[in-house]
Amino acid sequence: MARYTGAVCRLCRREGQKLFLKGDRCYTDKCAVGRRQYPPGQNSQGRRKMSEYGLQLREKQKVRRYYGILEKQFERYFEMANKKAGVTGENLLSILESRLDNVVYRLGFGTSRPEARQLVMHGHFTVNGRKVDIPSFLVKTDDVISIKEKSRESVKIKDILENTASRIIPKWLELDRNTQTAKVVGQPQRDDIDLPIEEHLIVELYSK
Ligand code: SF4
Repeated sequence: MARYTGAVCRLCRREGQKLFLKGDRCYTDKCAVGRRQYPPGQNSQGRRKMSEYGLQLREKQKVRRYYGILEKQFERYFEMANKKAGVTGENLLSILESRLDNVVYRLGFGTSRPEARQLVMHGHFTVNGRKVDIPSFLVKTDDVISIKEKSRESVKIKDILENTASRIIPKWLELDRNTQTAKVVGQPQRDDIDLPIEEHLIVELYSK
């Protein structure tokens, strides 16, 4: 499964904002965005004002990077969103939020989306009682997501759960912290997505 393997803090600096790709470190003063407030690369500090196309492109790249998605797959998600009834940009975000790796992150079963993705690939979760190790698996209403019984004993998972105990769970997910089991109780709506995204720019980009 293809994925980005370069330095992740570089991605945040490129977008000029925190993408929260490194878990706890993102909340400390070691975060590279706070320390170096300019894009990576030579001569990057003297860049000119961005064109309309540049703004649209950057917004798309930012969203890809938030969710850890490669270009081709992102295009497929956009096509799916476009075919659905409703507002395409909101549909797109709703689809991205429904990915299992994002759901695992939202539930606090991972400290960052990249970590959640890795945990999914290592087979630590079940959906409706069956192991699912595909990060792009899309959950739907009434699905039940759970940490595998054996995995609940893992020190790593216990540490993660301790670190994320105060995470606010979006209202489309219902988490039982005692059993570490969650149910999908609705579709993610735009106001459930707390990311600074201007999705209309992405729609404009693909409409050219
Ligand atoms: Fe981004 Fe986190 Fe690195 Fe900061 S520490 S630059 S938020 S990945």
